[in-house]
Amino acid sequence: MIDFNNLIDKHISKGFRAKKIGKYYPSEIGSCLRKIWYSYKYPHEVEPDLLKVFEVGNILHDFIVEVLKSERTPEVELLQAEIPFKINIKDFLVSGRVDDLVLIKESGKNVLVEVKSHRMIKLVKQPEKRHVMQLQFYMHAIGVHNGLIVYVDKGSLKTKVFEVNFNEGESEIISKRFETLHKDLTENILPSSEAKEDSDMGWMCRFCEYKEKCDKNKK
Ligand code: SF4
Repeated sequence: MIDFNNLIDKHISKGFRAKKIGKYYPSEIGSCLRKIWYSYKYPHEVEPDLLKVFEVGNILHDFIVEVLKSERTPEVELLQAEIPFKINIKDFLVSGRVDDLVLIKESGKNVLVEVKSHRMIKLVKQPEKRHVMQLQFYMHAIGVHNGLIVYVDKGSLKTKVFEVNFNEGESEIISKRFETLHKDLTENILPSSEAKEDSDMGWMCRFCEYKEKCDKNKK
């Protein structure tokens, strides 16, 4: 009998590539700064189960691209998908990939769309702060100042959509987070345990592979 779990594991395995200090990602910047810092200092391979979660996200995004391209949805036009960008801030680089750029025909507006898969859409009451941060930075980087975060339920394909308006002040705060991260990494300063100190972020500690080190304030 063919072991399909094994086939899937082999197919999605990407091999280990450590991140490089000096290159940062908007998809991470809303996460706990200490955790991101550890991920550069103590890199390790992503667990196969987590890779599968990412893969489900990719599959759902491909589906949304199909919806946006469909002849049966003339109210929207997909202008571009998976738009790569690179931005230099001071002496480091921020690199990312925006999910979709869409033209809304009725308003004539171009809108950046960020698609997030979700286990239970009925629990989603507002967009997560880290997702808003990611989209704010994308709007800053691409220069399109209308954004939507689309949560897609993994089980039912139901969606919840949140409009995010560009805010120059917020995008500056995000740039400053990148600067802080870069400084702390290059000067070997352990950032504060951000997620422990912020009630909105506390849940991140439950899934943090660096919790033991963090609890000991270990560099
Ligand atoms: S345990 Fe919590 S505070 Fe510490 S690094 Fe992980 S997410 Fe951040």
